[in-house]
Amino acid sequence: MTRKLYRLVPVAFVIAALSFALHAWNGAKTASEAETRGANAGYRKFSDESFDSFDTLVTFTAFTRDEAEFGRYAKIVRDEMGRLHRLFDIYHEYEGLINLKTINDAAGIAPVQADTDIMNLLELAKEAYDDTGGAFNVALGPVLAIWHDRRAAAANGVVSAPSAEELQSAAVHISARDIRIDRENSTVFLPYGDMRLDVGAVAKGYAAQRAADMLRRSGLASGIINAGGNVVIIGPPLDGRETWSVGVHAPTDDGDMSKLLDVLYLKDGSAVTSGSDQRYFIADDRRYHHIIDPQTLFPADGLKSVTVLHNNSSLADILSTAAFILPMNEARALLARHGAEAMWMTEDGETMATEGYKRASKVEREKSAGEMKAGGEL
Ligand code: ADP
Ligand code: MG
Repeated sequence: MTRKLYRLVPVAFVIAALSFALHAWNGAKTASEAETRGANAGYRKFSDESFDSFDTLVTFTAFTRDEAEFGRYAKIVRDEMGRLHRLFDIYHEYEGLINLKTINDAAGIAPVQADTDIMNLLELAKEAYDDTGGAFNVALGPVLAIWHDRRAAAANGVVSAPSAEELQSAAVHISARDIRIDRENSTVFLPYGDMRLDVGAVAKGYAAQRAADMLRRSGLASGIINAGGNVVIIGPPLDGRETWSVGVHAPTDDGDMSKLLDVLYLKDGSAVTSGSDQRYFIADDRRYHHIIDPQTLFPADGLKSVTVLHNNSSLADILSTAAFILPMNEARALLARHGAEAMWMTEDGETMATEGYKRASKVEREKSAGEMKAGGEL
């Protein structure tokens, strides 16, 4: 195996290098060495990027004593994200592996032996279905497949939106409650032939959380994973700062991810964004994005993005999708029940945030500092 050279990032770099855009990391491209001081002496910052899992950029950054140590942790991230990607894949088969595609293909036929992570994920998803009044629904697969195919066709120049009738005729067995998980025999069964699972709204968050837990168990004290907008912190940076700076990208009409809407100062937990500007197609001047309201079977209206903060990344991922779909008052109640914080951006570009989000937000801190200053000058 060839030895991988991990990127070494200077500690005293400009803010851009310290920021992780939630959807793409635009970190330092230079490699130069900088030693940490004091209690953190001897630690250096390394970064690894990969595009192997979940069709998204996964960036892992950590402070370790040397490159070899970092390489061991980076391998854990790549291996675990890759393993879970294959397990939760609904489009591809892998030799010798029973994954979600196997379970979908056996719908209405027979229960399938399932890996513990599949059962854990589906159990969590079933709870979330009830908890969100059905807004978060991994059994929406038959409907999501139609939208997925239209996005793919549009990318090839054949643009058309599905009709309400077409969507409704696919939405016959779409209750997550029907998913049968048998812990004793370690099987999962979809009892109707037309049931299909799609775990796209929680898979990345779940995988990033698992990888972070493994890193911590393996002894890593300081690091951060960003799996396509699902950020999980393993421990605070070892360069004198108390927090990581996590960039929240500004949703734009063309999916340009270079602009930041905010920077979050975080020392633990997870930040996850769901947005309408990354996966979509345009037909008849309307944007058809990838977060589908199970009540209408069409893309959820009203918002451009939602960013959720929660200790657990699986839950943050679930909540960001649900908060994108639910009416604001229901979303607020749901988040409060879970002790989660959030920021919403409406289609008109207005933003709203919970108090806990504001405390972590650069934009909000600057706003209140500005107000204090203005008050002082009166
Ligand atoms: P992203 O994948 O961009 O991070 P989300 O976490 O919000 O964003 O997940 C969106 C994906 O979840 C869609 O591509 C689709 O596979 C799936 N999905 C869409 N609508 C729903 C829904 N109402 N409930 C559960 N999953 C959904
Ligand atoms: Mg999600």
